[in-house]
Amino acid sequence: MGADTKIQWCDATLNPWIGCTKVSPGCKNCYAETCTPVRAFRIGWGAGAPRWRVKSFAAAARAANRKAGRLGRRLRVFPSLCDWLDMEVAEAWLADFVTTIAETPELDWLLLTKRPQVWRARMVAVRHVLASREHAGAYMLVDAWLAGSAPANVWIGVSIEDQARAEQRMPELVEIPARVRFLSCEPLIGGLDLNYWLTVCLVPQVQWVIVGGESGAGARPCDAAWVESIIEQCAAVRVSCFVKQLGARAYRDDLNGREAFIGIIGGKLTHRAEDGQRVWAKWKHSKGGDSEEWAEVFRVREFPGVRS
Ligand code: SF4
Repeated sequence: MGADTKIQWCDATLNPWIGCTKVSPGCKNCYAETCTPVRAFRIGWGAGAPRWRVKSFAAAARAANRKAGRLGRRLRVFPSLCDWLDMEVAEAWLADFVTTIAETPELDWLLLTKRPQVWRARMVAVRHVLASREHAGAYMLVDAWLAGSAPANVWIGVSIEDQARAEQRMPELVEIPARVRFLSCEPLIGGLDLNYWLTVCLVPQVQWVIVGGESGAGARPCDAAWVESIIEQCAAVRVSCFVKQLGARAYRDDLNGREAFIGIIGGKLTHRAEDGQRVWAKWKHSKGGDSEEWAEVFRVREFPGVRS
């Protein structure tokens, strides 16, 4: 399953399997759980539910690799309907996935997880599986990775929805050798102070931060000030930032006598209600994902190594 995607920060989605178990508040309205393939194939979700193997995955990945060669540029690919470090997935499946990564050097695999703490244990298990197979490339990739040498075509990211999850997952993330480390702060459900990770360490430990408010049924509110703060924290240390969407229920509290800019259409501030000082954005785009509707300050869409 290789698919063009509406996710603006990658070129395609490629899922080795589908299915997962919820682990934290950010999972509450998991997009993958209700997406079309999950409903169409009646794939179960949660602890004990069998994951659904995507049989066409390896062939689709090799096709994407050839396409990248033809285009003469690397393609960013992202498994969007699973967590690649899901402990309920058979080690043999993960070994197959790593083998495909080793066979597709023209792709950048954006591997996002909410389970960075299991990376080493999973890789040790995968190395054991690969030792019994005849695929030296995959074995050497994992063996070198465990020894501290990051694969050239893997970016490692963690999802962070609030400060508690930042404190949990950031220390684990920085222990994983990676060419590029990134954060997906989506759905953002609280303010984040990332300064320790972005500035206190002598070398920034993260090269890219993606930000997004929640969308879809039951979307939780997102304070535009949380997003603005992350943009400022990244800019202060020249870490690339990508604002994906402000969310279906974006608001601004900190008016303090000045106009609060969240959404601007035709130069006019739009809001549908005021509750005290709270102003809610009223978007045409259901996810608050059209940057044309945003105030200038939110229009930041950078990639690692490419800052605007
Ligand atoms: S970790 Fe990701 S894929 Fe898994 S349940 Fe949570 S949001 Fe969904």
